[in-house]
Amino acid sequence: MIPKTSETHHWSDELKRALVDPLSLCQQLNINPQQLPGGIEGLKKGQQLFKTLVPQPFIKLMQQGNPRDPLLLQVLPLGAENQAVTGFVTDPLQESKYNPLPGLIHKYTSRVLLTTSGACAVNCRYCFRRHFPYAQNSLSSSGSQAILDYLQKHPKVNEVIFSGGDPLATPDTRLATLVKQLESLPQLKRLRIHTRLPVVIPSRINTEFLNWVTKTRLTLVMVLHINHPQEIGAELIQALGRLKSAGVRLLNQSVLLAGINDQASILAELSEALFTQGVMPYYLHTFDPVAGAAHFAIDDKQARQIYAELLAELPGFLVPKLVREYPNQPAKTPLGW
Ligand code: SF4
Repeated sequence: MIPKTSETHHWSDELKRALVDPLSLCQQLNINPQQLPGGIEGLKKGQQLFKTLVPQPFIKLMQQGNPRDPLLLQVLPLGAENQAVTGFVTDPLQESKYNPLPGLIHKYTSRVLLTTSGACAVNCRYCFRRHFPYAQNSLSSSGSQAILDYLQKHPKVNEVIFSGGDPLATPDTRLATLVKQLESLPQLKRLRIHTRLPVVIPSRINTEFLNWVTKTRLTLVMVLHINHPQEIGAELIQALGRLKSAGVRLLNQSVLLAGINDQASILAELSEALFTQGVMPYYLHTFDPVAGAAHFAIDDKQARQIYAELLAELPGFLVPKLVREYPNQPAKTPLGW
């Protein structure tokens, strides 16, 4: 049965209304842009490299008048993004080496990643794919047969991961068709969706989405991307309720980010809030050294210290795995402490 939703507006309209001008964002939040590092000039310079995109439901979760708001800092362009820093590169995970077909990344033996969309509903300044060439690399409807052929030749693959961009920026008609095609491969057991869209536009979890989700024979896992407890608002809680009623298994991954969630108390609060809503903390990623985002990086010593404090504070099942992704490794690598 499809869980009931109260749909007053469509998520795609919300996407169209997203703010693309950082000055308007400051204005809406009653923040003087001159208070920000680099001022108005910094906003403009950061914006040239990676455009601003912030939907209204996410802005509503930010604090008025606070230039250090942890949600705002994730999306606000800064002049620091223009500084070249040694070791910070455009493709930190070297994904281009594992990209046998447009729209398909195959790094790990049993699972492949399909970039169903190059679009996102929010542009996170720390994104490790902020330079990814989506224009040449998103899955087109004509390319899905090539993907199916590839999967048939790789029978050890039993899980497909929808990624992006944000896969839920793809219309449901297209997702439903793709899922139907994937279901025809008996080797596939699971479909995993990595998404931040329900966090920034909770109305994405609507009847059209739940319609195909409740019909697929694949076990559906959704990995949300929430970095801070303030991101869990009332609308997201309702959306999570709909996902749980539809039988979707819910996990969360976060990125450890300087100035956002680099305190054990914040991460503990996040884990508690996730668990209360039926979402299991899954990964805490160390920062991928992507060019333009060095100001979010935390060194390993500090990461280990934060993690040790988190372990002391929470029961083990609420502690996400602290991991780093290395380009040439067959899985994510736990960061020892
Ligand atoms: S891929 Fe994820 S982290 Fe990157 S900009 Fe999109 S939503 Fe943000």
